[in-house]
Amino acid sequence: MRIDLNQLPEAQAIELRELEQPVDLDVSGIKILSAIEIKAEALKMRDNLDVKIDLKARALMQCSRCLIDSEVILQKDFRLDYTISKQDSCVDLSEDIRQEIILEYPVKPLCKPSCKGLCLKCGKNLNEGSCDCKI
Ligand SMILES: [Zn+2]
Ligand SMILES: [Zn+2]
Repeated sequence: MRIDLNQLPEAQAIELRELEQPVDLDVSGIKILSAIEIKAEALKMRDNLDVKIDLKARALMQCSRCLIDSEVILQKDFRLDYTISKQDSCVDLSEDIRQEIILEYPVKPLCKPSCKGLCLKCGKNLNEGSCDCKI
């Protein structure tokens, strides 16, 4: 997402909406299934640009215990702050948005907190019932 500073009035919050294709954000390791809906409220105050972001996307998350994929909604709101100068005509938020999405994504995602995972011996999904292995 890019914000055109020349289009922004001084000291007046403007709401912007954009659909960002996941490929543009290059979010590695995260399978994003839909375009990322970004709602931004931008406020320009002299040499400062303050942006409140609200983003939402559908993503595919693989459980780190049972390896089953499940669909989750990634949703996050955060604030970005930029120092701008008279020479700047545009601020590109894509990299910061990308970082926020990566931070939001769990390191060890679970399909549910009580997920039993897979049997280490036969590989059966223990959420579906126990197996006969004795380990
Ligand atoms: Zn699981
Ligand atoms: Zn087993």
